[in-house]
Amino acid sequence: MSLEIDLGPAAQKFRDELREWLEVNRPEGLQEVDGEGAGAGDQPGMAEWTQKLYDAGYMCVSWPKEFGGRGLSGIEVAVLNEEFAKAGVPRVTRGMGEWLVGPSIIVWGTDEQKAHFLPRIIDGTDRYCQGFSEPDAGSDLAGLKTKGVIDGDEVIITGQKVWTSGAQAANMMFCLARTDPDAPKHKGISYILTPMERENGESNGFELRPIKQPTGGSHFTETFITEARAPLFNVIGGLNNGWRVTMTTLGNERGGNATTQHVQYTKQFWDAVELAKQYGKSHDPVVRQQLAWAFSHVEIMRFNGLKTLSEVVAKKEPGPGASINKMFWSEYAQRFAEIIMNIRGADSMVMPDGPDGSYAPDKWQTNFLSTRSVTIWGGTAQVQRNIVGERVLGLPKEPDSEAAKKAKAEEAVR
Ligand SMILES: Cc1cc2nc3c(=O)[nH]c(=O)nc-3n(C[C@H](O)[C@H](O)[C@H](O)COP(=O)(O)OP(=O)(O)OC[C@H]3O[C@@H](n4cnc5c(N)ncnc54)[C@H](O)[C@@H]3O)c2cc1C
Repeated sequence: MSLEIDLGPAAQKFRDELREWLEVNRPEGLQEVDGEGAGAGDQPGMAEWTQKLYDAGYMCVSWPKEFGGRGLSGIEVAVLNEEFAKAGVPRVTRGMGEWLVGPSIIVWGTDEQKAHFLPRIIDGTDRYCQGFSEPDAGSDLAGLKTKGVIDGDEVIITGQKVWTSGAQAANMMFCLARTDPDAPKHKGISYILTPMERENGESNGFELRPIKQPTGGSHFTETFITEARAPLFNVIGGLNNGWRVTMTTLGNERGGNATTQHVQYTKQFWDAVELAKQYGKSHDPVVRQQLAWAFSHVEIMRFNGLKTLSEVVAKKEPGPGASINKMFWSEYAQRFAEIIMNIRGADSMVMPDGPDGSYAPDKWQTNFLSTRSVTIWGGTAQVQRNIVGERVLGLPKEPDSEAAKKAKAEEAVR
């Protein structure tokens, strides 16, 4: 139960229509997709449900109608997420294509690029992964070394990316490459929509080496790119102007999920209340304090999400305030995972047997392990603090440490 907010008659009408549609169309027996979108995609019935949502126009719902979206306002997106969660059905999206690439093309693409790339995201033809981070370019992303060499009407890309989430399921990478090695660090980068396969079905110079995670899965890879070819048409925002496009993408990575976070955590919160009862801890004063702390944080997340989304609607893209959202939910998620581990006590430490004799963490253990990474991806918590300090509060840049001297005037943005 959350404190009800009156979102006005238009939102209520939208909610009523949506409830009606879900009542008639909701599938039975599908599990909800977790926060990372992992695990639910291959369950039986998921493909049919995805197709039904696509046919009914429930993909890329916040994109403007002229680009094939549903043109939903921030409030309507919030309502949609809540209603899907209440109905207990997966809210399928087109992943990074919908959340990161599409909004960046809408801001920076030409009319021809919008007409070509956006429908392919909506209908699922193009499935994107993010080729930003490199072994020596994480927080200091502008230090990237992947090269892009122009050859006629193509760009040839060679380099190494790392931590490429979802690369095995993708057929396109939105890839940053240095196309002008002589320009200042932030100026010579291009944002290239790079096919991972050639037309004949062979790899377009991509070698993916899965990285094993503590949960036992391998959701990301080291990615080696050798002379991948992309048409110059696929460069978004113009050659050597990729940094501006990257800022739009990162703004969406930090603020674009603002209305979805609280839905997942509200559900987890009530699961934790049940766990506390089940483990005989609901009278424990420490657990009660922790649960009260968690509930108030989820509520703050909900209100802050609506605020971030109003900014997105007003300015078309999230500003530096999105960093507050990223910092808040990611640090909450880690602390909350610890609270659940404490409630479950010894059960948290015993891993059930996996099918092949290895360990297989259960749902809460997986949650604990996977939330270790949320203060890293999309820009670390420390870097978000720098952004909030400098760009929201107007504080001076970091003091002159050795590291700061080295990076002088080139702020770390991730
Ligand atoms: C689960 C997961 C999924 C990911 N998915 C992708 C993906 O799909 N595509 C992709 O391109 N990347 C992805 N990443 C990479 C992610 O964006 C980087 O890990 C992140 O930007 C940090 O970079 P780094 O790991 O090189 O750490 P570093 O930048 O080396 O940072 C190391 C430490 O130094 C601190 N630090 C660095 N600079 C500063 C500063 N200026 N001020 C204060 N502290 C600082 C950091 O906060 C951190 O604690 C993923 C990462 C994870 C964990």
